[in-house]
Amino acid sequence: MSRQSNTSIPTATTCPYCGVGCGVLARAEGVEGDRQHPANQGRLCVKGSALHETLVPAGERGFSPKVDGRDVSWAEAIDRVASAINGAVREHGPGSVALYLSGQLLTEDYYVANKLAKGFIGTPHVDTNSRLCMSSAVAAHKRAFGEDCVPGCYEDLELADLLVLAGSNAAWAHPVLYQRMKAAQRDGRKVVVIDPRETATSELGDLHLKLRPGTDTLLFNGLLVWLHDRKALDASYLKQHCTGLENALKAARQSAPDTRAVARGCDLTVADVETFYRWFAETGRTVTAFSQGINQSIAGTDKGNAIINCHLATGRVGKPGASPFSLTGQPNAMGGREVGGLANTLAAHMEYDTPGARQLMAEFWQTDQLAGGPGLKAVDLFEAVHRGDIKVLWVMGTNPAVSLPDNARVREALARCDTVIVSDCVSATDTTAFADILLPAAGWGEKDGTVTNSERRISRQRRFLPLPAGVKPDWQIISEVGQALGYVQAFDYRKPADIFREHATLSGYRNDGARVFNIAALAQLSDVDYEQMNPVQWPVTSGETGHVQQTPRLFSEGGFPTPGGRARLVPVSTQAAGQQPGQRYPLVVNSGRIRDQWHTMTRTGLASKLFAHRDEPFIDVHPADITDAGLVEGGLAMLTGPSGQFVGRVRSTSNQRRGEVFVPIHWNGQFASSALASELIAPTVDPISGQPESKHGIAAIKPLTAEWQARLLLPKHQTVLPTPMNASFDYWSRQVLPNSTGWWLAGRHRADWTELGWQCFGREPDLLMEDGASGRYRAVWLNEDQLEAVLMVESEAGAMPGVEWLDQCFAETGQELEHRWSLLAAGSADIEPAGALVCSCFQVGENAILRAIEEGCHSVEALSNTLKCGSNCGSCLPEVQALLASAPAQEGQQTGLSA
Ligand code: SF4
Repeated sequence: MSRQSNTSIPTATTCPYCGVGCGVLARAEGVEGDRQHPANQGRLCVKGSALHETLVPAGERGFSPKVDGRDVSWAEAIDRVASAINGAVREHGPGSVALYLSGQLLTEDYYVANKLAKGFIGTPHVDTNSRLCMSSAVAAHKRAFGEDCVPGCYEDLELADLLVLAGSNAAWAHPVLYQRMKAAQRDGRKVVVIDPRETATSELGDLHLKLRPGTDTLLFNGLLVWLHDRKALDASYLKQHCTGLENALKAARQSAPDTRAVARGCDLTVADVETFYRWFAETGRTVTAFSQGINQSIAGTDKGNAIINCHLATGRVGKPGASPFSLTGQPNAMGGREVGGLANTLAAHMEYDTPGARQLMAEFWQTDQLAGGPGLKAVDLFEAVHRGDIKVLWVMGTNPAVSLPDNARVREALARCDTVIVSDCVSATDTTAFADILLPAAGWGEKDGTVTNSERRISRQRRFLPLPAGVKPDWQIISEVGQALGYVQAFDYRKPADIFREHATLSGYRNDGARVFNIAALAQLSDVDYEQMNPVQWPVTSGETGHVQQTPRLFSEGGFPTPGGRARLVPVSTQAAGQQPGQRYPLVVNSGRIRDQWHTMTRTGLASKLFAHRDEPFIDVHPADITDAGLVEGGLAMLTGPSGQFVGRVRSTSNQRRGEVFVPIHWNGQFASSALASELIAPTVDPISGQPESKHGIAAIKPLTAEWQARLLLPKHQTVLPTPMNASFDYWSRQVLPNSTGWWLAGRHRADWTELGWQCFGREPDLLMEDGASGRYRAVWLNEDQLEAVLMVESEAGAMPGVEWLDQCFAETGQELEHRWSLLAAGSADIEPAGALVCSCFQVGENAILRAIEEGCHSVEALSNTLKCGSNCGSCLPEVQALLASAPAQEGQQTGLSA
């Protein structure tokens, strides 16, 4: 295996998207799954498979820093950053400087950023977008175990005889891990899915508890009571290794005295609740995997502890196939936690109030300027920016202008801040628009360092592309700023390996076993060892033979990092309540990921194949709510919440509970006119973790009644609408197509298309079809024999033809005369519309699958053999299964999955 890619030898690295942390073999021209990597064993999901298509192209990134929009040298940019920090510290104190980091950063970047801010600038205000993702799980771990430790490993999800998936749509959010769970299905193994929505993950469930949102604590409190009352607790484990059972039980019993109370509160049947409780009691090998549906809540920490309580009480912690398991959202959320990337932590899993920690850190870093106490967590931090308390804000590798709740206020805060510094590999994001100083940072493929996935596994992310001239990796940018601030020795790093060794040394520094996070056995790695380092799960110790030993599981025999060595069952109440729906805002809004996009689309938005699954922002609505609100399936609707709006295409689905809608988190201001899910989310946070309640907003919905709907196709390089169009519509969204850029447009008022065409293209269309009575208008502009623009207007979206064939025409020169009139029909008789894309790997659309079912493919296997759908990453298998289930039953039909 090579460390440097050329066209034939791949480089072993890791995927930069989700917390599964898959190993990838990468070449400049393509990627494949790494069979040697323990996390994925060769599998990749559709996002991972498209990684080479999401490398940021030259036109969408900068190659020199900018100050106030002006290209400057790196020397000048570093000097400006240092001057801004120095000035703010001098005039307003160190607390006037803040860093907002990202789970996309590598551990080495994170370490240096944390060291600079907390150790040398002296500001505690260092937080990260991981706050939005798993900080409630972190807080729950600390309360229960004494330290932020995930006790189990991925293998446990396969070994479990009962797998409980709480608040996790793993099929879409952690696809490869989901495929591992699915492949582990066997006789006698059961899966319980706990989610208010039916999702792609629900198909794995033997039991789906479609509970009322926010009632997870009640469900697990009821489980603790039920287990206790039926003498199903592990008395021996509790006695030897735990404290707090009585108080936890007392609190649980107050809200969940019996199954009836739980069923009523959770809006479930008594029978379903009892089935879950009975299975849990009967199955020693039980894993409860929990994710954003638990964490992103005003009571996320309590929910996490309600789950962990049940596992502690049954002794199911860190044993093969038996553990609570937090699924992390981002590729390096855990690496960030290791180095202290959260505002309430110091470094190396030490808190500010850990006895002796501040002194230890000051000594290790050789500084007398260490921050004095915890800093502001994400939502509070941006509020401080808004107030003007933070004068210098440095954002690295994240897009808070899209992702943070109450988005309008966050944008106001960014606009008000004296100096906004943004380091990013993408030049035009919603956040870089606010940058006074913009620093072009290395992207995936150019970066070099380590990441830690959800099972505590540290892997190398290796560079396989040359670092472009004018671009620097984050650790180097931060180190140069540190040196410009005068801390020459402390930031004298030459390469990521130097930083990793220091980080590993710190983890073991005066660590007498009180801190579980310890990788000191890696502190002596040579540069070559670091380059060749294999994935390893912390804590890492030195074996007798000198070999490093990793730790797949923790705490099966107790030994918790608490003062008494015992884990704590935590009393959790069910009282917490966020915004409640009412007359004005009658709907509950849930937000989350979709299968083929990642975060705010800055990278996955570059790949046409990742748009084919969902090409527009959408709103999932229950059919009865569609009727009540006068909506039309496939029409546009506007959600209005207390602090913002969201416009999307209505999808009718009984997967939603009545009174609840779902919106995707991905679309941003570069891709849609008004589709920021975060605008519907209040900045309400969990009081312990500070994590926002992103799974719960409130809103009213109404149709966006459009006089016309249009599709506009322009050449691929044109990613911005012609300016004259901007004033003419009430909705737009952009889709990247293989050969062109496409927009959906809609307007409430009649538009003068002839005039608009003139303004945009400077002449009449070359081909035109107009029917005033039906509202149809189609126009084509050609540049000699090359397609320049296609505009199709209809009175309703349902009448709009597909654009697959038109898109192909953008790749062709020499538009034949007889073929030109087909452009107005938007199709050739030879091409059948694909319908919504189901299988991204083999580009198989819904229509092809439905036709194959009609023609006799009555199982997933048969469809896979005929069309190849589902035979690669498997991410689409739940949707293939759903199409089979929805098709009219045929004699002998089977829909079972074997993949
Ligand atoms: Fe990347 Fe997909 Fe693996 Fe997540 S599951 S790390 S997105 S390949």
